[in-house]
Amino acid sequence: MTTDLVPDVDFVQLLFTDVAGRLKTLEVPTARWAEVRDSGWTLDGSVLLGYGDPEHSDLRLVPDPSTYVRRPWDTVSGRTVGMVFCDVVDTAGRPFAADPRAVLRKAVEASEARGQRPVFGVEAEFYLLRPGAPGTAGEPADGAGYWDLSVDEEADEVCRDIAEALARMGFTVDGHHHEVCAGQRELVFRHGDALTTADRLLLLKHTARVMARRRGLSAVFMPKPLAHLYGNALHVHVSLAGTEAPSKALFHDGDDTDGMSALFRSSLAGVLDHAPALTALGNPTVNSYKRLVPASGTPVHRSWARHNRSTAFKVVGDNAVPGSLRLEMRSPDPAANPHLLFAGVLAAFADGQDRDLKLSEACEEPADQLDPAALATRGILPLPTDLPSALRALDEDGTVREALGTLTTGAFVRNSTADWAAWHRVVTAWEIERYADSV
Ligand code: GLU
Ligand code: MG
Repeated sequence: MTTDLVPDVDFVQLLFTDVAGRLKTLEVPTARWAEVRDSGWTLDGSVLLGYGDPEHSDLRLVPDPSTYVRRPWDTVSGRTVGMVFCDVVDTAGRPFAADPRAVLRKAVEASEARGQRPVFGVEAEFYLLRPGAPGTAGEPADGAGYWDLSVDEEADEVCRDIAEALARMGFTVDGHHHEVCAGQRELVFRHGDALTTADRLLLLKHTARVMARRRGLSAVFMPKPLAHLYGNALHVHVSLAGTEAPSKALFHDGDDTDGMSALFRSSLAGVLDHAPALTALGNPTVNSYKRLVPASGTPVHRSWARHNRSTAFKVVGDNAVPGSLRLEMRSPDPAANPHLLFAGVLAAFADGQDRDLKLSEACEEPADQLDPAALATRGILPLPTDLPSALRALDEDGTVREALGTLTTGAFVRNSTADWAAWHRVVTAWEIERYADSV
């Protein structure tokens, strides 16, 4: 631990996240650093919980110096800024129950108590857009397609800016490429422990927005920003490694034809079982469900496969390389709070293991091309198709609710319900066109 850290910057941003997964900050002049490091900074619970919360008014932000990074971009006036993640603690110094980072840390500790160390990775998709007509998210910044080597350097340069900035913040950027639709990009950084990966995803989103804005574009992570183009996924990769040295790849079994261990099968069966509640965590906005439709390259069913990439859960990796074998969750989107989603996944793994759930048969044909009878025969159910259904599933799922805790689940559901209620009051141009003269 770098507790003797002396930030070499003018200001330090104390970072934490709310239950919706947004980065929040209090910025202090560096002269105040030593005092803040030792005594913390007070805040009230409504900053995290997202509503007037009279009960948790004496919380404290405590910086974790091991997460300190110097921001690789200075301000326009040449000031330098550092960033450090903080733990949120209550008056007794205990982790605050609705700090998403504390929720994830607790879930990781529960996995480790089983001898399982979670490893998480993410693929972040986003659009680079130019300012467009009022009321739109913007216009795609390029006209290129899937993995194209484009001649339009402007959007490519934004991706290079992002990759370089992240590398200077200590990330190993594995690569970035053009996604399927015009203006759409994907960036992947090296997998790691659960908390680091979740923290880094939030830093990536922030960095991408800053870098895009510097070149007059915007980096848009909303799940479905453009109705006629594909949505943005947040593919989540996860595996379990043994906590004992030398660490074993617990998801791997060289004698199995798919390379999968019995532990992997029961863990995956757990995730399939809890998929509806996990959908609430992975797809927490009204807009999320506009992405989760057939024919947009996104999964709509609760199925798994070893080879077919149209399923919600895909087993990826090389049978011959134990550590590479992992689960890829393809339904989450970048609006997810990664800390809460990862905590939910770990709880579902543990439940699948404890109940020794049997894994259904793999679905190697695109599930959205199977007719309802074929789906029924195989016992393949749809994922929730709208936010209220997903929230109901979360409310009914004791395992996931317990992993999040009552305070966090309540605030999360309240937040997403407010999103739905606000949307419900909007009358769209589509409705006017469809109904005004006809009903
Ligand atoms: N953008 C697609 C989605 O929304 C995923 C594309 C891909 O396979 O990488 O799910
Ligand atoms: Mg992709």
